[in-house]
Amino acid sequence: MQFNHDNMHGVRLAESLVNMLADGPWDSNALQDLLTGHLFRSPRITPKYQDELREWAVRLQTVFAAEDQEARCSAVNALLAGGVRRVFLTTHDGMLPHLHFADASETLVERVRAVTAGGLAIFMTEAAGERLGVCALRDCGRVFADTSRGGNRAYCSARCGNADAVQRYRGRLRAGYQSQGVLS
Ligand SMILES: [Zn+2]
Ligand SMILES: [Zn+2]
Repeated sequence: MQFNHDNMHGVRLAESLVNMLADGPWDSNALQDLLTGHLFRSPRITPKYQDELREWAVRLQTVFAAEDQEARCSAVNALLAGGVRRVFLTTHDGMLPHLHFADASETLVERVRAVTAGGLAIFMTEAAGERLGVCALRDCGRVFADTSRGGNRAYCSARCGNADAVQRYRGRLRAGYQSQGVLS
């Protein structure tokens, strides 16, 4: 499966915002770094923006955590309704025509809302409503958008996958010892 790179921008931003919520701390410096890393030019985070972005991140999380396709569609529709004012085609930088959901005249928070809602909506159509999830390691809480070839990712990172494998192995060992009466 090929994912349109330009449209992944909003999906990756959504992923990062939700993961910052999971990792903490939620402060203006961390937000500034995060947004700069996602190509926002010299973002200025006011206390109001900080709160609004946190609220939005909580809403983004519902898309990744949705139980099924229908719930996920509703979650994205709620974001589209609250975050996207207009959609237009653009060919900037010699690119093929593609959709944008915000322009430079909008505020930072408006742009973040629009690009994440729009990006997630396009990703939903490209990924058949799947490939968005919460890390399977208990208590991790990070989320991911899976663009791997197989599309069966379960963890936010290889580190969490390994940690879970070790935990499961220890669990099996413990169960084995208990059944042999070595451990009570
Ligand atoms: Zn573009
Ligand atoms: Zn994880």
